[in-house]
Amino acid sequence: MNASDRIKKRIKDYNNNLSNNLSKFDGVLEINGANFRCNDNIARFIKDGELEELQDEVEEKFQAVLESLVIDTENDHNTHETARRVAKMFINETFGGRYKSMPNITAFPNMGYKSLYTSGPISVRSTCAHHFQNIVGSCWVGIIPSNEVIGLSKFNRIVHHVASRPQIQEEMTTQISELLQEYAKTEHVAVVVKAEHMCMTQRGVKEHESDMTTAIMLGAFNQNSALKKEFYDICFSMNRR
Ligand SMILES: [Zn+2]
Repeated sequence: MNASDRIKKRIKDYNNNLSNNLSKFDGVLEINGANFRCNDNIARFIKDGELEELQDEVEEKFQAVLESLVIDTENDHNTHETARRVAKMFINETFGGRYKSMPNITAFPNMGYKSLYTSGPISVRSTCAHHFQNIVGSCWVGIIPSNEVIGLSKFNRIVHHVASRPQIQEEMTTQISELLQEYAKTEHVAVVVKAEHMCMTQRGVKEHESDMTTAIMLGAFNQNSALKKEFYDICFSMNRR
């Protein structure tokens, strides 16, 4: 059985034994079971050495794609190693947020700051799940801290980790906001993502001027319109450098 089938079987076995397994995977509690959709992180189901095996599998299959595209990879120096490069890029970089564990995020005690703090623009480089085209843009996050705070660079790490998956922008924004709530241990979280979708600019309608903006306001950001406005004003000022 190859690595991808072994990993899928492990996830299905886990779901089949859910009631016995609920506390087994590093304390991750998934009452509804684990998934391996495009934007799910499956790192905890992958064993040592299997990422390399996955990379070999993807290389072999991408080579077959190039062959079906009638590209002479044997005699063309430009595409000779393309399958290997693409496989490495998918597993380690552009889709690495599926296969690698969440970066370590340490929270510190909050010494009394209970107001808004904002970080951005944070670069967003993702991939649209529908066309496997790039999504390129920026993200701004706002937090009203509770009893703990996380370091400023951790916002970037969370956004970059989530972005490194094939997905749609709406779900990416939701995932970022939920992880921020979890790691910053506060319900008051705001996330704005503004991005250009290459599936809009390079194909289909070929529209070069359109961006997509998604915004999620949780806790006080959702209830307090003055706070929401303050956050947007700060985002806007941070955009102009
Ligand atoms: Zn698309």
